[in-house]
Amino acid sequence: MHKCYVVGLGPGDLQNMTPAAAAAIEQSDVIVGYDLYVQLIAPLTQGKQVLSTPMKKEEERCRMAVELARSGKTVAMVCSGDPGVYGMAGILIEVAAPYPEVEVEAVPGITAAVSCAAVLGAPLIHDFAVISLSDLLTPWEKIEKRLLCAAQADFVLCLYNPSSKKRADYLRRACELVLQFQPPETCCGYVRSIGREGQETHLCSLEQLKSCQVDMFTTVIIGNSQTKRIGNQLVTPRGYRLERDAKQG
Ligand code: SAH
Repeated sequence: MHKCYVVGLGPGDLQNMTPAAAAAIEQSDVIVGYDLYVQLIAPLTQGKQVLSTPMKKEEERCRMAVELARSGKTVAMVCSGDPGVYGMAGILIEVAAPYPEVEVEAVPGITAAVSCAAVLGAPLIHDFAVISLSDLLTPWEKIEKRLLCAAQADFVLCLYNPSSKKRADYLRRACELVLQFQPPETCCGYVRSIGREGQETHLCSLEQLKSCQVDMFTTVIIGNSQTKRIGNQLVTPRGYRLERDAKQG
């Protein structure tokens, strides 16, 4: 059996990588990934073959990893966050499917939703929905439907890929949809470059979020009807107090 790991590195700093992720990298002969992620783990890859590839060529990158595994190397393909959340795990399993001698193993990592939530306080503590605003692989109409349904159901929303050069107004469009069901003062926040140099945090209302300029290194959280601000932190109550009050009453 030839191993091909697909490894989640967490948000960026080595401390937030799991020991299992570090062990998979340690056991691998070849490391494959985007330049930025490969740089983040440079201390772990010394003496290994490191192949960094440009953005977007995902299938090509997977084929390269599978071919290397077939040739007898142990390979680790690295991704930010978790490899199964808008990551490479799915496509790698698909590409490797015709080669039963290659075993793909996913190693989980801390996804941006939870690292972002920890920076902001505890906004995701109850039911939440994760939605990517990237329409590269999902038609925008479907993204709109998901935003509307999740807002109507009063989910806390966590938005990945909130913007890019070509999609500069997508966050504003998303906020306008959510505003059909949630009030303008709804508590929101976002974090840029979580766990990396220059991490930035911003708290605001849903109305204000509409005109915030964010980029693709940012994760956005839109609270639900219960989310509140305590000092500089966002909290969505779990409803314990309501339960206790009901029992007492
Ligand atoms: N597999 C990754 C997500 C990849 S999609 C994960 O599980 O986290 C890329 C999106 O993830 C970015 O547009 C951004 O919204 C979010 N993201 C990933 N890493 C981030 C970080 N360090 N800081 C802020 N957002 C991040």
